[in-house]
Amino acid sequence: MNAYPGATGARLPRWLLPQDWPMHGDHPVLATLHFREDGTHIEPDRDVSGYLALNGALVLPPLIEPHAHLDKTFTVQRSPALQPGLLAAIAAMHQDRARWSADDLRQRARQALNWAVEAGVGLLRTHIDWFSADAPLAWQIVGEMQHPLCTLERVALAPLTFFADADQAEHIAAQVAASGALLGGFIHSSNWDAQAFTHLLQAAERWRLDIDLHIDEELSHDAQGLRWLARYLQHHPFSGRITCSHGCALAQQEDGEAILDVLAQHRVTLIALPLTNLLLQDAVPGRTPRQRGLTLIKEAQTRGMPVLLGADNVQDAFCPVGSYDPLDTLFSGLLSAQLGAAFDEASALICQRAALHDGATLLANDFVIFPAAEAASWPLRSRHRYRLKQGICYGESTNDA
Ligand SMILES: [Zn+2]
Repeated sequence: MNAYPGATGARLPRWLLPQDWPMHGDHPVLATLHFREDGTHIEPDRDVSGYLALNGALVLPPLIEPHAHLDKTFTVQRSPALQPGLLAAIAAMHQDRARWSADDLRQRARQALNWAVEAGVGLLRTHIDWFSADAPLAWQIVGEMQHPLCTLERVALAPLTFFADADQAEHIAAQVAASGALLGGFIHSSNWDAQAFTHLLQAAERWRLDIDLHIDEELSHDAQGLRWLARYLQHHPFSGRITCSHGCALAQQEDGEAILDVLAQHRVTLIALPLTNLLLQDAVPGRTPRQRGLTLIKEAQTRGMPVLLGADNVQDAFCPVGSYDPLDTLFSGLLSAQLGAAFDEASALICQRAALHDGATLLANDFVIFPAAEAASWPLRSRHRYRLKQGICYGESTNDA
């Protein structure tokens, strides 16, 4: 297969272009992309023979699914939650996991990965529940999975109580380090333990692990996770990358923005999960929810914090719907968090790799092309898409079949 050396007529989002890029009214002029060894070079559009003609198609870097649960996905049919809310979903998941054989896990996780890649995802981070201090079967099964178009990352999701014992925290971190994965944890008012959190952070530091926490996924003013983390970091700078997922409580706390000030100084990444937060927060039977449950997305952006949007659970007891399409996640975020210009600004929330990895190249020779879409309607009317990686087109078909 011949690879294109470049592409013409690419409509890139405003956030991806240099400040002095020429504009045509409100829209950036189209770009020509040159695929070079050190990444893609861009310039205002011109004709180049032998280049792929994109004719104004919308173009983004590969999408990111920064927060998924491939071990739980596609189980809602057999194990729905019996009550609304987060804790009932956790109970349903524990019932379902008796059925998590290697074949069952492999089949469900593979379906999820395929759906994500069809949607244009090039990096998928999945949390995997640990039920004891030893890695679960799903850790190994997902660790064996690969896809040529998608990097798969694992995060060990252990309840905070597992870190109460320092030796056990060490044991978990050692296994995570041996797997080249990230350390995570579920930190919530229902299991709050400052000592255990200290052990988690110390073990991560010793094993040079990045961490990604489920933290303050609740609307309680008294949630202690992020407040305590901010105080801890002021005295114990952390050498790795810290990502905090959910952080719903920040929106309820009077000191929420002060907490963000500190987290921003320590370049903590914030991941908002609008779909599950809208569904699981402020959930009471027979009553319309009054609160959105979202973290302080705009305040974090204002402070220069890296922010991404993730899907979280897909078709399990936590969230019975979902598609592994980051455009669906973004659409829910656009409305619930009032995010502004979808393509030219908010699209950064589903494709900025540097939010998860220091030094990640924004313009590697890898793109998602939306050939029939236009910026005014995107992310709606944008199902049709394909990948253009190293000048080769993959998956030129619709994924809405
Ligand atoms: Zn999650």
